[in-house]
Amino acid sequence: MASINTGIEWTDKTWNPTTGCDKVSPGCTHCYAEALVRRFPTNFPNGFALTLHPERLQDPLRWRKPSRIFVNSMSDLFHSEVPVSFLKEVFETIGKTPWHVYQILTKRHERLLELAQSLDWPDNLWMGVSVENQNYVSRIDYLRQVPAKVRFLSCEPLLGSLQLDLTGIHWVIVGGESGQKHRPMNLEWAQSIRDQCQEAGVAFFFKQVGGRTPKAGGRLLDGNIWDEMPSLWHLHIQRWENGNVKLISKLG
Ligand code: SF4
Repeated sequence: MASINTGIEWTDKTWNPTTGCDKVSPGCTHCYAEALVRRFPTNFPNGFALTLHPERLQDPLRWRKPSRIFVNSMSDLFHSEVPVSFLKEVFETIGKTPWHVYQILTKRHERLLELAQSLDWPDNLWMGVSVENQNYVSRIDYLRQVPAKVRFLSCEPLLGSLQLDLTGIHWVIVGGESGQKHRPMNLEWAQSIRDQCQEAGVAFFFKQVGGRTPKAGGRLLDGNIWDEMPSLWHLHIQRWENGNVKLISKLG
């Protein structure tokens, strides 16, 4: 699957220049990507082994509609087996398509920081780390040092309460786990993160309560939908969604 429109509420489509991964922390236990590979084995001849797809590197240039693109829903771009040269090509494509916003999420915070200075960070690249419980808040310290215009956290699946230092962070996504073996989220954990975001002036996005299916628990937190986006997103929309088709054609 080169790209798919997605049901993930905080993005529009996915782009997977690599697929496959290895588990690194408790948030990986019921990895969605691995489950998808098991379900559709013919689409993934290498199974869940890290696989580069250079033939997909130029795909976003063909997508003219400005979109939020989640990079590597089926992998982790900062996996040790992704060569730096390949990462640079991914970043180059991002830089060449400023009408899109790219959301990259990693659990490999150490490699992220190690490589951060050798990469060019286009303004339309949002960089995030996963934080599933308090044992992994140190990932945020690594992210803070990365020169991305938007830095975000994905606290999904949220597995415990979190005390966050949100300095230098622009956006926080929270969600409970879904699936047959989901680990239930305590709503108080999500409420606390929302309150910390409000205190720090950080955009808060509540994706789902979770349960046996993604929609089972709904999306309400204290009776409200929380769909906040980073302020740069609103500027991006103004620039690219108000008929800048000519500019896109020129750039692409
Ligand atoms: S890092 Fe992401 S893609 Fe990789 S195993 Fe963990 S949850 Fe799955």
